[in-house]
Amino acid sequence: MTQDAVTVRAPAKINLHLGVGRPRPDGLHPLATVYQAVGLYDDVSVTDAATWSVALAEPVAGVPLDDDNIAIRAGRALAEHHGIDRAAAITIAKGIPVMGGMAGGSADAAATLLALDRLWDLQTPDDDLLRIAGTLGSDVPFALVGGTALGTGHGQLVTPVDDASSVWWVVVLSDEGLSTPAVYRHFDELSPDAPAEPPVPDALIEALAGGYADEIGDLLANDLWPAARDLRPDLVDVEVALRSLSPDGVLLSGSGPTLLMLHEGVEEARAAAADLTERGYRCTLAPGPVAGAHVVTYA
Ligand code: ATP
Repeated sequence: MTQDAVTVRAPAKINLHLGVGRPRPDGLHPLATVYQAVGLYDDVSVTDAATWSVALAEPVAGVPLDDDNIAIRAGRALAEHHGIDRAAAITIAKGIPVMGGMAGGSADAAATLLALDRLWDLQTPDDDLLRIAGTLGSDVPFALVGGTALGTGHGQLVTPVDDASSVWWVVVLSDEGLSTPAVYRHFDELSPDAPAEPPVPDALIEALAGGYADEIGDLLANDLWPAARDLRPDLVDVEVALRSLSPDGVLLSGSGPTLLMLHEGVEEARAAAADLTERGYRCTLAPGPVAGAHVVTYA
């Protein structure tokens, strides 16, 4: 069945564990990461058009509105995969912080792949969608899958893991973004002895199967923390403020600068967020884990 317009919602991701190795010959970093999709979303709407375009439902700084937008790259890659000469007008409603280490661009790419597949009734097999997603960016396949998953390779090889937890994250935003490539470059300077293959975090994967937030909180880890702290020393004070509220865990989101505080219950999370807001921090709540990219409207 063909449609005039399709809207797909895709979640932000966080990395409960982000193990980073030394760069491979192709320049990409080997990762052993545990992704979790959390409840902050971008909505991507597509309609047929004579040429590719991208627009924002509401203005947001830092998002390119030309061919550099990863949503257009995703659309072109899908059309090329099927050998079809079609284009679309893409509209993005951003709910995921830009340059926040929560993979908002990757979410848009995943949402665009799914939305155009449905708009054009392409019936792309899941494996093909995941493979195309992996060529667009390391985090794009996970945005299709959602939930909680182990990411290996350069993050693009995604295997769902059993996660019995249901938690709340206080997402502490930063007014200024942090460049992912800059953080990885500094990681390379700080970690000349990083392993060729970072180890899979078995203890965390076991704790997720048990579902207890305090055990999960103790095992949160991010190898990019020291590099992000160096580039943004102000994050150290934010981390101290978060730890003073005794959450189940504190974590840098991806390459930062967003920081995350883990709570088992929504009431504690709300109280912590209110406390931080009073102290002048900008924060929002997000549940985890949530589903990956999914259609919300056909028209
Ligand atoms: P990651 O954690 O995957 O590195 P991030 O959440 O830190 O990502 P994004 O918001 O995905 O950062 O943006 C990263 C870069 O991608 C920005 O420089 C932005 O200009 C560019 N970009 C391209 N397309 C998009 C898009 N659709 N939405 C947001 N940023 C985009």
